[in-house]
Amino acid sequence: MKAIRRFHVRTVLPEPLAPLGDIASNLRWSWHSRTRNLFRDIDPQRWESVRHDPVALLASFSADELSQLAADTVLVERVHAAARSLERYLTAPSWYDDFAADQEAPRAIAYFSAEFGITHVLPQYSGGLGILAGDHLKSASDLGVPIVGLGLFYKTGYFSQSLSADGWQQETYPVHDADDLPLSLVREDDGTPARVTLDLPDDRTLHARIWRAQVGRVPLLLLDSDVDGNDDAGRELTSRLYGGGGEQRLRQEMLLGIGGVRATRIWSRLTGSPLPEVYHCNEGHAGFLGLERISELVTGEGLAFDDAVEAVRAGTVFTTHTPVPAGIDRFGKDQIERHLSTLPGVPVAKVLPLGSETYEGGDPAVFNMAVMGLRLAQRANGVSQLHGAVSRGMFDGLWPGFDDSEVPIASITNGVHAPTWVDPKVVELGQRFVGPELIRGEQAWEALGQVPVEEFWRVKRELREQLVQDARRRVRESWLLRGASSAELGWTDEILSPDVLTIGFARRVPTYKRLTLMLRHPARLRRMLLDPQRPIQLVIAGKSHPADETGKKLIQQMVQFADDPEIRHRIIFLPGYDIEMAQKLYPGCDVWLNNPLRPFEACGTSGMKAALNGGLNLSILDGWWDEWYDGHNGWAIPTADGVQDADRRDDLEANALYDLIENNVAATFYDRDDDGLPQRWLSMVSHTFTTLGPKVQATRMVKDYTQQLYAPAAQAARRRAQDGFAQARELAAYKQEAAAAFPHARVDHVDADGVSDSPQVGDQVHVRAYVALGGLRPEEVDVQVVHGRVSESDELSDVTTVPLSFVETEDGPDGSGRQVFAGDVTIQRTGSFGYTVRVLPRHEGLASPSELGLALNA
Ligand SMILES: *Cc1c(COP(=O)(O)O)cnc(C)c1O
Repeated sequence: MKAIRRFHVRTVLPEPLAPLGDIASNLRWSWHSRTRNLFRDIDPQRWESVRHDPVALLASFSADELSQLAADTVLVERVHAAARSLERYLTAPSWYDDFAADQEAPRAIAYFSAEFGITHVLPQYSGGLGILAGDHLKSASDLGVPIVGLGLFYKTGYFSQSLSADGWQQETYPVHDADDLPLSLVREDDGTPARVTLDLPDDRTLHARIWRAQVGRVPLLLLDSDVDGNDDAGRELTSRLYGGGGEQRLRQEMLLGIGGVRATRIWSRLTGSPLPEVYHCNEGHAGFLGLERISELVTGEGLAFDDAVEAVRAGTVFTTHTPVPAGIDRFGKDQIERHLSTLPGVPVAKVLPLGSETYEGGDPAVFNMAVMGLRLAQRANGVSQLHGAVSRGMFDGLWPGFDDSEVPIASITNGVHAPTWVDPKVVELGQRFVGPELIRGEQAWEALGQVPVEEFWRVKRELREQLVQDARRRVRESWLLRGASSAELGWTDEILSPDVLTIGFARRVPTYKRLTLMLRHPARLRRMLLDPQRPIQLVIAGKSHPADETGKKLIQQMVQFADDPEIRHRIIFLPGYDIEMAQKLYPGCDVWLNNPLRPFEACGTSGMKAALNGGLNLSILDGWWDEWYDGHNGWAIPTADGVQDADRRDDLEANALYDLIENNVAATFYDRDDDGLPQRWLSMVSHTFTTLGPKVQATRMVKDYTQQLYAPAAQAARRRAQDGFAQARELAAYKQEAAAAFPHARVDHVDADGVSDSPQVGDQVHVRAYVALGGLRPEEVDVQVVHGRVSESDELSDVTTVPLSFVETEDGPDGSGRQVFAGDVTIQRTGSFGYTVRVLPRHEGLASPSELGLALNA
């Protein structure tokens, strides 16, 4: 076979159009509709045929065509206006400027994720995690938070979905040439591509180049192993997102974590930008980043391994994004041993315990990436209040001796990037009534609730119409691929209606999301679809992981149901769920349906995007909906939480869903006044804008991360590194002492004075505790009274803790020294009151008393 050498010829723009190059390569266009409109207006037809891709659009013009365009003075002026707008966006004073003026804020934050969903032209995501990461970067850019994103470049992305004639998911893997994408190669000063190199087992090395996507102000660095110098397996390593099994996944994650840290060093050296002070590990996939930083400190600063762990933990934030066990990466310890033995300064014997499942039910042979992530991060969080609580329960084995409520995993509820997800028609409406700041601040959303409802209703019909048109085209294309001829597809021009109550359901298809719950009683659903007075229409989309046969069966079941000629105008499955489809789907729906098996939806964000487009949510009280459903912003599908029989639970919840749709949702939607307006419905929409609008913004989320996690982490990391990492060494030594001492410590005896025969609220009780500390000094512990309501079974609830002060050392009964701690407790409630004494570790380097998982409960 003849080897074809490929060369890539970049479009050379004539001077008057030169700014278009920068405008196309900064992904801000993906959330700035005026810039998109500029590209569209250059050649509307071609804009469609290149699927709204600015780089492809520019590449499609011949040199002659470009010089003609360059002679169009109106166009040239628009190009320069767009360039000025981008420049203003990139240099404007930011929220972060003010934030950092008031306190010690990180100079840079590295945000690691296995996937990033920024625009449909850069398909580097599979679902929610990636979209969230994209929204995080975009909002960080809006706020001026100095983040750099780290990920992998997958030349075939996740996969492209289509359907077979009988409705089975088909996967294809079109190759995306990085040269055709809005990416630029990171180069050394001499022009050669910068390289990250990694040692693999058997004396092999892996090389990767670094692509940069520019997300507004935020650079996103993507490592790509498809380079000369790698063997075939190495070149293929990063070709697919979540493709390949154990070993390939492990190597991908080594490249992401270890290579990612190395990429930040290169980036900083080449650009002069500050090194990250905070490392944000999203999900376990990037967990090896901690090991690389330990390795740097051991080899570069001469720290002992344990001291380096403390230095690294201070500046690391770990976010868990799923309570579904299959979502957590686990490798065999033997695999880790084989792969991680070459990291300098990091003995495998020290690595293995970091990922060990040292809790009840844990597998001793397994290395758990989330567990390592939690152990190597001083700060951790889940992604909604409920998910935080679920995670605290799930990982409580890592903090023995503590109540779930004290497990140090906080919550920051996800949000969505409004400029990306709010349809331009809604933005325009808002700006007409609220002002130009609508799309920037969170609070402006409150005002959107004041827009006259008839105005909104008119726009909503346009949004439904837009979805209907898009869906007709997609269904038709899908049927052509399924083997139909265009002659028999006339019916696709008639499907859906812009006046029918439109319900959307789109997401990945793991079993817990229950794609087919609505098909539980097919006859009932048919009746609802075909109801002559109050019909509903359903638009459904979703991808199943290629290896998930169960998920593919669910899709097939859905597709076959929707294929029925009697109902296919009212229920459709759209293959190829992606950002671009989503941007039409959310605005076009009146209701966004979500019926996961509670509590497996960590947060869910699609419903937030629907809400920002005037949609009402109809959802199980899971994830964010559990937190923010308020009785007027949509509907809660009752859950049969306690019911063990999964089948019966589905039955109960499906029936509740049908009842809700018929009696509440459809009834409200079709309840019209004399002007044809559904007043009750519209008041719910206004209420949604006013109350949910400000909360669901990703800018709110990024501010929360910055204030609650990034800034404290940066401060802790600086403190830890001062004076030659003195605090890191002290803390590591203290941990060892405390771990040795606590098993031998005991509370000998507790006295309480001042408890009368009939205690009253407000009475003071004087408590003295006699404690043997197993070798720790009194100032190295906190001794507390924990008091609260006491149950029949002697459990405390509604607890308050009161610190006791050290009083003196005295000889214990057996001759050993014991310490006396004392303090006053005020009785604060009537009824059954109880207390206990406990001893906790104390060190200025700890972020929470439960951090070490050591507690002595009397
Ligand atoms: C928002 C979004 C998701 C995630 O939605 P969830 O509700 O979190 O499941 C997945 N895919 C696309 C294309 C999205 O836009």
